[in-house]
Amino acid sequence: MTLILVTMTKTLYLEDSYQKECDSTVLSVKDEKYVVLDQTIFYPKGGGQPHDTGKIIKQNETFNVVYVGKFQGEISHEVDHVGLKQGDRVHCELDWSRRYRLMRSHTAAHVFASLLCTGVGVLVTGNQLEEDKIRFDFSLEKFDRQTLEQYIDKANELFKKDIPVKWYELPRDEALKIPGLIKMAEAFPPNLPRLRVVEIVGYDKQADGGTHVRNLKEVGQIKLLKTENKGKTNRRVYFTLS
Ligand SMILES: [Zn+2]
Repeated sequence: MTLILVTMTKTLYLEDSYQKECDSTVLSVKDEKYVVLDQTIFYPKGGGQPHDTGKIIKQNETFNVVYVGKFQGEISHEVDHVGLKQGDRVHCELDWSRRYRLMRSHTAAHVFASLLCTGVGVLVTGNQLEEDKIRFDFSLEKFDRQTLEQYIDKANELFKKDIPVKWYELPRDEALKIPGLIKMAEAFPPNLPRLRVVEIVGYDKQADGGTHVRNLKEVGQIKLLKTENKGKTNRRVYFTLS
């Protein structure tokens, strides 16, 4: 979904999505509470994945990270009170239970999209992860709940298996030769020299900048919440981790 952001901040979450803490230096502070770090474990909202939350600790003072976003090419951490300044050495801690749930959801979403694409041949037109549910939009005329339940069952069978998930970068030309790499009908910057690929080994490869679990077994199980018709062929489905 999202792709690699070229930024002055080292994006640790892209390399190791299991890293829960790091030491950083404050590069800049805008309006007293929008903080740019030299390296970060906090995922900025984007590509259908919500931002992380957590803490930035300076000596004995804790700043809660309430929002993380990309602004003007920078990863900006919004903290709940003023006091951080350029050059501060800080310690970052992720709200791991929130992030881990999002990682499980994100990997589940890839599996579901892959099954739908292969099975019904639809292109997913939208996908949004929330903390408690996963939303999918796709274009399909014939649509019934029973069919979707079957796809949920298929996904749940895969989540019982020991199937590794890997992520790595490839040169753009090489990446674009992979069939089905772009499943989401979302535009992405055309000028990136390298693309990040998330691979569910033996099942799926997608261009993606999100955080994922290392094995399908970690997802657990999913269940269908509700389905909606949004026009003649636009379908919306919500599912959740169970
Ligand atoms: Zn994704």
